[in-house]
Amino acid sequence: MTARMRLHPEAIGMGMTSQRVRDRLIERLRENGIVDERVLNAIRTVPRHLFIDEALATRAYEDTALPIGHGQTISQPWVVAKMTEALFANGAQPARVLEVGTGSGYQAAILAALGLEVHTVERIGELLRTARKRFRALGFNIRSKHDDGRIGWPENGPFDGIVVTAAAPALVDALATQLAPGGTLVAPVGGSCAQSLMCLRKDADGVISQANLAPVVFVPLLSGLVD
Ligand code: SAH
Repeated sequence: MTARMRLHPEAIGMGMTSQRVRDRLIERLRENGIVDERVLNAIRTVPRHLFIDEALATRAYEDTALPIGHGQTISQPWVVAKMTEALFANGAQPARVLEVGTGSGYQAAILAALGLEVHTVERIGELLRTARKRFRALGFNIRSKHDDGRIGWPENGPFDGIVVTAAAPALVDALATQLAPGGTLVAPVGGSCAQSLMCLRKDADGVISQANLAPVVFVPLLSGLVD
């Protein structure tokens, strides 16, 4: 090995998934307003490069969405952080959560790394099978099903948190119904090109309030199953 390689491993493409590269992502998330240390720690710990194709691994710790096949994407880390942080806002202590849109499995893994009991639903069978392999390999105990997530998972609800990772023109009523008192639902709401990240809270008496957290861009929430 030459001295230059030893001094600059990243300059030759090595170390692109190293702890230093991951820490840089955490700093970036902090600069962009993510404050919950538990969430930052989960993002520091979960190996995002194992949730994407090897060919893209060098970009795993950039704060950007990346393709995962079938026209879908793994969400941008900042968006994952923002949605996850929302579940813990105002001192909430969620235990059981539902994710709609498993995709790569990354968001579900972040929730599981935070000690939550995670349920996740995906309509594309092949994506779900790949995500399940990742959960097993990394030791995450996550419940998942191949279904249209717009119906939620009523048998396993109510949920303290619901994270919808695909965009719809309006909040899905069936999902709000499965939210426990004191629970939070986060979902991108809007048109196909751009949405608002909406946060819906149900207080202890069941009264609902809404807030708009940020402008976001998600793939659409679609109906029907794909193998
Ligand atoms: N949370 C994912 C992001 C995946 S992109 C991750 O961390 O990688 C959104 C995912 O939602 C896609 O995989 C898409 O197939 C899925 N999806 C879209 N509509 C759906 C529906 N009605 N039910 C379940 N999953 C859906």
